[in-house]
Amino acid sequence: MKRNLYDEDHELFREVAQEFNSREVAPHYAQWDADHLIPRSLWTAAGGQGLLGLAVPEDLGGMGMTDYRFRAVLDEEFAASNHLAVGLALHLHDDMVLPHLLAYASEDLKQRWLPGMAAGTTVTSIAMTEPGAGSDLRGIRTKAVRDGDDWLLSGQKTFIGNGLSGDAALVLARTDGSTGRGNKDSFSLFMVAKGEGYSTGKQLDKMGLKASDTTELFFDNVRVPGADLVGEAGSGLEYAAGQLPQGRLAIAVASSALARAVYEATVTYAKDRNAFGERVIDFQNSRFVLADVLTEVQVTETYVDAAMLAFNRGELDAVDAAQAKLWASERVKSITDRCLQLHGGYGYILEYPVAQAFLASRLLTIFGGTSEIMRDIVGRSIAR
Ligand SMILES: Cc1cc2nc3c(=O)[nH]c(=O)nc-3n(C[C@H](O)[C@H](O)[C@H](O)COP(=O)(O)OP(=O)(O)OC[C@H]3O[C@@H](n4cnc5c(N)ncnc54)[C@H](O)[C@@H]3O)c2cc1C
Repeated sequence: MKRNLYDEDHELFREVAQEFNSREVAPHYAQWDADHLIPRSLWTAAGGQGLLGLAVPEDLGGMGMTDYRFRAVLDEEFAASNHLAVGLALHLHDDMVLPHLLAYASEDLKQRWLPGMAAGTTVTSIAMTEPGAGSDLRGIRTKAVRDGDDWLLSGQKTFIGNGLSGDAALVLARTDGSTGRGNKDSFSLFMVAKGEGYSTGKQLDKMGLKASDTTELFFDNVRVPGADLVGEAGSGLEYAAGQLPQGRLAIAVASSALARAVYEATVTYAKDRNAFGERVIDFQNSRFVLADVLTEVQVTETYVDAAMLAFNRGELDAVDAAQAKLWASERVKSITDRCLQLHGGYGYILEYPVAQAFLASRLLTIFGGTSEIMRDIVGRSIAR
């Protein structure tokens, strides 16, 4: 079945993305993987090519693109080429930080941050998770207390992508002085630039997607100007919930593209590899596995494409997004596992794309909300 999500403009944009990926990413990716770091030059190159901050208004240096399919093209290209660490780094900046600023930040904040974000001269992180609280963000302990017109921010975050390489983080902090599990209006969001009292901890040694740096962040009485509060104090959790659909849709898009790429690589491998005088693809088991996988790939694509169109219409709610993420991320996890098996021992060797995809896909059912939390969101909506 042919996909009919994209039109000519998206395919032209895909050509730009593919050319960028082959020129700026492919030759260096293995080195970045070894360094556990994507260099800043990649960000400015992406910005220069018009691949960052697509939704940033034109007068602030972006393209003012509200059609999510252009963002999805980028996600698909980085996932399909097994450069998912680059996709992840850009995702945090463009699918997580940017939508919050676009939706809730003051004009002053937008003018200070968005041009650099679109140009790639400013790299951002989203800092919500803490050592003691991930799924349950009401348990976070990082706090901001008023000090005149400013706020003083203290606490610790963990698992923060772009935390080492970035310039600033969108930080969720408790602002009502409460302890224990907070209320829905106990938290606020701040755009916090690196500076005095803001330090990074050790790089976390991930099993995959190593080129994207992931670190702890520490805030020791960081002075945050009142103007860097995003929107209203006490609305941080509401804002975060409001922007979850885009983040989860993006993970579904990447999952779907990765699943397709792994399927295609496995068909090629199974046609080339021989055993017992036959091609691996000639064993009935291989064909059955691949028949299941192809069907799942197509069902996932169809579902995720529909979710993208719903998002463009402003109709993808939190439950829809949770379902799309749950389905697509669980599918790609299972698909990479079965495709790896068809590679035999080579599937376990990192030089083979399927091994890298297996490690990358393992994150997708955890990050951005675990599958259990997705089921909880969907289950509660059913029980209402
Ligand atoms: C590589 C990587 C990058 C990340 N990047 C970022 C980032 O940039 N910014 C950021 O803020 N965070 C980031 N995260 C954090 C990520 O979003 C969290 O790890 C995730 O939300 C889960 O939180 P947790 O690790 O604290 O697990 P926990 O919340 O401790 O969960 C542990 C287990 O309990 C289950 N569980 C929890 N609550 C329930 C429930 N109510 N019902 C059933 N089961 C439940 C979970 O599903 C899980 O299986 C990243 C994580 C990783 C691994």
